[in-house]
Amino acid sequence: MPFLTQLAAVAKRTGFPVTEVAGWRSRGHGPQPAVEGIVCHHTAGPAGGGDYPSLAVVRDGRPGPDRPLSHFGLGRSGRIYVVAAGRCWHNAPSTSSLHDNSSSLGIEAENNGSQPWPAAQLDAYRRLCAQLCTEFGLPAARVRAHREVNRQKPDPHSINMTDFRAGIARLIAGEDDMPTAKEIADAVYERLTHEVSADTWAAKQGILEPGQRVDARTAWRQTWAYGKDGYHRVREILTLLRGQDVVDANAAAAHRARPRQGRALSDATHRGGAGRRQHRLQFGQRRSAGSTA
Ligand SMILES: [Zn+2]
Repeated sequence: MPFLTQLAAVAKRTGFPVTEVAGWRSRGHGPQPAVEGIVCHHTAGPAGGGDYPSLAVVRDGRPGPDRPLSHFGLGRSGRIYVVAAGRCWHNAPSTSSLHDNSSSLGIEAENNGSQPWPAAQLDAYRRLCAQLCTEFGLPAARVRAHREVNRQKPDPHSINMTDFRAGIARLIAGEDDMPTAKEIADAVYERLTHEVSADTWAAKQGILEPGQRVDARTAWRQTWAYGKDGYHRVREILTLLRGQDVVDANAAAAHRARPRQGRALSDATHRGGAGRRQHRLQFGQRRSAGSTA
């Protein structure tokens, strides 16, 4: 196998932003001999310091001839850093012949080894693995945590790899758990048309009476009226939607919406089916930070 100069294009298929680290196409300990597996790591870098403070270490290695450490870096935001197209020193000694340095790709995700994983970063992690599996004809079962193929390693911490691989398998199969614009609009509407309870911010402020209901138009035009949380939530969603040119469709859908009970936003954002990638959102840490078990 040659240097894997398609890796940046593969990463871009995730929909997440990609940084091509200068020189990546020829970086490596010679060409990559084979791709039979994918190994997931955490960097054990600093707790703070921006999106991907471990870049220099992953690219240049520690003192000595061990650069580079892995093919990809993964920032806290979900940004993918393409570091190397050749063989990397990311897993030795390996307990799996399909996951040693000559037969596998490495992904080093920024994390200090104990802090919660941002939802966007986990989403990007699964999608990058899925795209790599598709590119190299691998099943999701070939994605392994470093700790699963090297007895001395703990990484990546707290990610349930059975669930992680199940998510990758769904992505490989073309399924997508992200909502349509209509589902988002319905969910926002439902969230904001509750009966006002006495302990809400708006009730305490005297803006709304306890027991009062807020209709869809009010919810959309005066989201501040119900509560600070709703206000910030809608503002966040609108910002995301504007970036995907679906905000007008959502507003229209919300105006047509009728009251429905039951389904909360968090449920709606996890529903869906095939072919919805154009509406994919990255809700960030607010959605499920730390829920990696
Ligand atoms: Zn590792």
